[in-house]
Amino acid sequence: MKREKSAELFERAKSCFPGGVNSPVRAFRSVGGTPLFIEKGKGSHIWDADGNEFIDYCCSWGPLILGHASDKVLSAVEKTMRNGTSFGAPTRLENELAGLILANNKYIEKLRFVSSGTEAVMSAIRLARGYTGRSKILKFEGCYHGHSDSLLVKAGSGLVTFGNTSSAGVPESFVKETIVVSLNNKQALEEAFAQFHQQIACVIIEPIPANNGLLLQDKEYLQSLRDICTKNGTLLIFDEVISGFRIGFTGAAGYYNIQPDIITYGKIIGGGFPVGAYGAAKEIMSCISPEGGVYQAGTLSGNPVAMTAGIAQLSECLKSGFYNALEEKTKQLTTGILKQTSGKFPLMKFFSVGSIFWIAFTNKEKIASAEDIDPGSMNYFRSLYAGLLEQGVYLGPSGYEVGFMSEAHTAEDIQLTVSAFAKALEQVAETTNV
Ligand SMILES: *Cc1c(COP(=O)(O)O)cnc(C)c1O
Repeated sequence: MKREKSAELFERAKSCFPGGVNSPVRAFRSVGGTPLFIEKGKGSHIWDADGNEFIDYCCSWGPLILGHASDKVLSAVEKTMRNGTSFGAPTRLENELAGLILANNKYIEKLRFVSSGTEAVMSAIRLARGYTGRSKILKFEGCYHGHSDSLLVKAGSGLVTFGNTSSAGVPESFVKETIVVSLNNKQALEEAFAQFHQQIACVIIEPIPANNGLLLQDKEYLQSLRDICTKNGTLLIFDEVISGFRIGFTGAAGYYNIQPDIITYGKIIGGGFPVGAYGAAKEIMSCISPEGGVYQAGTLSGNPVAMTAGIAQLSECLKSGFYNALEEKTKQLTTGILKQTSGKFPLMKFFSVGSIFWIAFTNKEKIASAEDIDPGSMNYFRSLYAGLLEQGVYLGPSGYEVGFMSEAHTAEDIQLTVSAFAKALEQVAETTNV
């Protein structure tokens, strides 16, 4: 596989950007080598600067549920763009996208558009604090909520801890407001509430944690979260930036049928453009300015071009059978690979839900918390990754990241991917006991 052009572009990028990238995971550090510079995408395929073609399961980290350069999205966007790209004044398109979402999602009554998932979460936290008048928040180890200060916090040692910052530049005093506990651990949760029950503004969780492996939780555990929050006057925030519009139109709230107090969205909602949103019941949302005292604003919020892409993409998601077809293809992929390799690589497992899948190398049958992932197992992924690229399959460049199926993936793509895995795994087996 030729890599000269990508390597050259990366050298140039390194003189422009820290580490040569505008978001750290793109730098390929955890899989080694230099990142591929992508030239174009169509449907389920992408092409890099050297002309190599790949079947893509990263899909821009989830947003592209219709695949790349969807004709439906592009033709709508083109039309909107010709009327101007931004006004900083309300447009009909915001009503239209909101209308589409609210009419089909009983878990929120009002929402506010922002420009990224990070911004959605940051605003939701401020809303929870404003609404409750409390300042502490509780998060879970192994859930990612974007890069705002209060959430760049990792667990210390002990069952219930204030976190340690997971980034330089986050003040100690911020960290003191964030409690961190393990996923799937009721005792830790109860202990945190016993210590801080009148102080916790909100509990935030990815109900389908998909940023540190795929750490599927039991419905019963999520329900216990709901119950303990209700009992303590604490708001429950579902961060559905990945799972929203991915696990069905109503995301994880609908999948588990649990009513959170605030939901955050991103990724799919913008059809490949920068959009985030947070929503809740009318009463909670009335705290947001200009109606209420919680300030939140954005120059490009509700951008007409981005709204148009969201409308076009979500309209497709609403068509009957859309999500079943995605799930079916995901099963074909994972079972196809396991069948083709007929138990020869017992450490490799697929964990999946809907159209999200995660490849783990483990003896465990279930992985429900960050602590259950063996960092050493990432060496297998690294080796598999190199083999898959050679075979024309592109995944997110880290073993902690999940893969996404899109509407554009075909039966042929799946067949080719199954063969690619079989070949790549043979290579992994030559150097390890996978
Ligand atoms: C991607 C993601 C975010 C951050 O969204 P950005 O658009 O990257 O800022 C927040 N929460 C979850 C669950 C995510 O997956």
